[in-house]
Amino acid sequence: STPIATFCALLTAARTGLLIKGGDVLESLAKIKIAAFDKTGTITRGEFCVEEFKAVGGRVSIQQLLYWVSSIESRSSHPMASVLVDYAQSKSVEPKSDTVTEFQIYPGEGIYGEIDGEGVYIGNKRILSRASCETVPEIEDMKGVTVGYVACKRELIGVFTLSDSCRTGSAEAIKELRSLGIKSVMLTGDSAAAAAYAQEQLGNILDEVRSELLPEDKVRIVDELKAKHGPTLMIGDGMNDAPALAKADVGVSMGVSGSAVAMETSHITLMSNDIRRIPKAVQLARRTHRTII
Ligand code: ADP
Ligand code: MG
Repeated sequence: STPIATFCALLTAARTGLLIKGGDVLESLAKIKIAAFDKTGTITRGEFCVEEFKAVGGRVSIQQLLYWVSSIESRSSHPMASVLVDYAQSKSVEPKSDTVTEFQIYPGEGIYGEIDGEGVYIGNKRILSRASCETVPEIEDMKGVTVGYVACKRELIGVFTLSDSCRTGSAEAIKELRSLGIKSVMLTGDSAAAAAYAQEQLGNILDEVRSELLPEDKVRIVDELKAKHGPTLMIGDGMNDAPALAKADVGVSMGVSGSAVAMETSHITLMSNDIRRIPKAVQLARRTHRTII
């Protein structure tokens, strides 16, 4: 291959905020057949709004619940965490991260923290079984929102709902990929209802939607896509999807909100977080590849 053509292409991409780690990544990019998108923080902004936040079961007051949740969430870098911290502060509750004595992340499920001598679990439905919660909530997964559960001492003590919206460029990026002959699928750890809502917001343009996935499920699905469709691109923010990014032929991490691990394991970092840059990069890669041949 001609090093000059490759170098120029990498430089052009870098100018638009796309850091491509080398010429062989560019070559793989030219051959991509299918793109797998993470949902939260990738297709969606990951800028949540708190719709509802309530204590249930009467074991703790709303103030106490806000204090526990915000203090434990202040230890997390998940997009859901900061909005819960802000929400508590807006209700005059000041989170204290140093009162959280034990902290644990369960990827694709939620988090656990010890505070005031109590163990508190926060996350989706999966976290309830991890918390050995005996009171399974009646609440059905609601459309358009991500439902969060709080459990302590095997009991459900709180429920909250958060809303998020799709990035302006998401639908456009997926349409452009399609015009380049590349299919798009969504892989999310969120509920089926939240996934279906995002698909609807996009105008039902995704070829496939998979929900309630753990990080290892995302890895397995990327493998399946590779076997079924050929060269696969995966784009995510690194929250629970760093292993899938590494598994893909081309892994793209979100630069602004993305984690450091994701930037390391991925082949491309999207500094601008503008996913419309991806189809542009594919076109650039294809042009460069043609020049090289
Ligand atoms: P996605 O695959 O859409 O990017 P994630 O894998 O990041 O979603 O998260 C999956 C689910 O795990 C979230 O929808 C949420 O219910 C739960 N979760 C993850 N981290 C947290 C957290 N810090 N607090 C509460 N819930 C969390
Ligand atoms: Mg994510």
